Amino acid sequence: MIRKSLLILPLAAALFLACVATGPGGKTSLIIIPSSQEVSIGAGMAQELARSERIFPDSTWQRYLNRVGQNIVAVCDRKDIQYHFTVVESDQINAFAAPGGFIYFYTGLLREMDSEAEMAAVVAHEISHVVARHGIKRLQATLGVAMAYELALGNENSEVLHTAVGLGLGLLSAGYSRSNEREADDYGLTYLVRAGYDPQGMEGMLQKLAALGGRSSSSVFEGLASTHPQTQERIQNTRAQIARMNVNSSNLTLGRQQYQQMRSRLPQKGAGQ
Ligand SMILES: [Zn+2]
Repeated sequence: MIRKSLLILPLAAALFLACVATGPGGKTSLIIIPSSQEVSIGAGMAQELARSERIFPDSTWQRYLNRVGQNIVAVCDRKDIQYHFTVVESDQINAFAAPGGFIYFYTGLLREMDSEAEMAAVVAHEISHVVARHGIKRLQATLGVAMAYELALGNENSEVLHTAVGLGLGLLSAGYSRSNEREADDYGLTYLVRAGYDPQGMEGMLQKLAALGGRSSSSVFEGLASTHPQTQERIQNTRAQIARMNVNSSNLTLGRQQYQQMRSRLPQKGAGQ
């Protein structure tokens, strides 16, 4: 199959190398793997995650995260896919986006947030990785051009799809590049404000997780740590962007009270492990 796909590479290149919108302000990128296949890979990963992770059995929380998630989706620059939000019951201070719009939040991270705007900031950051196609671009690079074109040819049940799901799961714990993180913070802040949230949620979230990363030996969301020069740079960039945006925070939501009520429904640390 690989050999056959190599022979038709030029044809595939002409057919499938798509220039797609990957950010605010008309930013575009060249993507080989089309959205339909990206969603198939993400759905395959979601199936595996449903087996390996404990899904938090509180439908109020699942609906709440989904509602906040869809509010941000409504103002983002990628709407050719459906977004799915899932709360995982785990003390890990983590959240991530699989390709194709499958986004996961751990109760360990939700417990550390103080307002809906802080949680929405993480949501907006993760949606931005999906909008910018960071996950699928990384997978595309890991798979290699020949396999990426094999996927682009639409072989739904192929071994390549299976390989892509396995590689995608392996890549989830690998951090993104510095420029990818900068982009996701930047778009995320734009989407956060477009959705009506106070941008201080983004700065508050980064500072909180950075402080936790400095104290704990276990890994914190995307390696954020107060001792990391990159973390300080991200906080400063966010602060500068908030100043440039010149928003009137009095009309924007922080959602502290509502969030704290929801937070009281979360399991205590060490419960259910
Ligand atoms: Zn990120």
